Amino acid sequence: MTDIQSYLKTYDGPPVRLMEVCGTHTAQISRCGIAGMLSPAIRLISGPGCPVCVTVTAYIDRLVELCMKPENVVVTFGDMLRVTGSRQSLNDAKAAGGHIEMVYSPLDTLKLAAADPARTYIFAAVGFETTAPVYTMLLKEAAAAGISNVKILTSLKTMPPVIDWICKNQGGVDGFIAPGHVSVITGSDIFEPLSEKYGIPFAVAGFEGPQILAAIYALVKRRGKAGVMNLYPSAVTRRGNEIAQNTVRSYFAPCDAAWRGMGAIPGSGLLLREEYARFDAGSDNLNTDRGANAHCRCAQVLTGAISPNECPLFGSGCTPQTPQGACMVSMEGSCYNYFINMRKR
Ligand code: SF4
Repeated sequence: MTDIQSYLKTYDGPPVRLMEVCGTHTAQISRCGIAGMLSPAIRLISGPGCPVCVTVTAYIDRLVELCMKPENVVVTFGDMLRVTGSRQSLNDAKAAGGHIEMVYSPLDTLKLAAADPARTYIFAAVGFETTAPVYTMLLKEAAAAGISNVKILTSLKTMPPVIDWICKNQGGVDGFIAPGHVSVITGSDIFEPLSEKYGIPFAVAGFEGPQILAAIYALVKRRGKAGVMNLYPSAVTRRGNEIAQNTVRSYFAPCDAAWRGMGAIPGSGLLLREEYARFDAGSDNLNTDRGANAHCRCAQVLTGAISPNECPLFGSGCTPQTPQGACMVSMEGSCYNYFINMRKR
């Protein structure tokens, strides 16, 4: 056992609640059994960093509507297929004749669209600061290749506003394991204002077990004090990837965006700018979350108010085979990860 492991296992100071914001961290924490390596006084809670999990029903409904039109094909990552809107998932729509293609990269859309110019290929553009540059690349390459039948339906979101929302409305977080992938693009400085505003430390962490443990250790040690610690310097700088940031800014403007169960958070989304509106498949007015399973507690899970196993449906009505909410669908979802790794706390 390393000194860090020993410290974290035997810690008996004031209780500490730490939020891992990123879905990949959630998955890795579960996979490595990190929660079980900690003293009962240190509690890890999952945050809103799984893009599929935070998508609202109105967005899924719009994708379903679009794919049922003969002139359209919806292109998406696999995780999105099983998330239910107010009535149907994309899988249901596909079974009913909807036109849907699953891909591994948004850029795969180019080949599909070029081979079928009579239909419009609409990519379901979900994600955070990390993914946004890839969508700009898709649109740029479509334009360069003269492919005019590619559009996106955006549900892109940005991290600082939702972390602010959690601190303001939920509270009870003593430190954040900042999202590593997002930080590669944004830089670690982006968390400074939030850290100062709430007097809470942030640690930017890599994704290996020891890197996550080092971040937890740093946050426990710094409890009650502001500060952003970059513990992932091999990939993250203070200012981030400024070329990617500028490209994203040139294509997208901030907008209010709804997060599952949290409602619309001002300035937390990205919408195509007016000059690129021709690429937009109708991404505005998608801020409602009507029709979600009333018993599903994804909203509380996503904000760290409860752990997945505190949801009454967890493991009984809701399993990866019978998901009742988006958090049980995605491989980055908290409920999915708690379930498959039997995470206890
Ligand atoms: Fe929703 Fe299922 Fe998670 Fe409960 S266990 S919050 S129903 S996804």
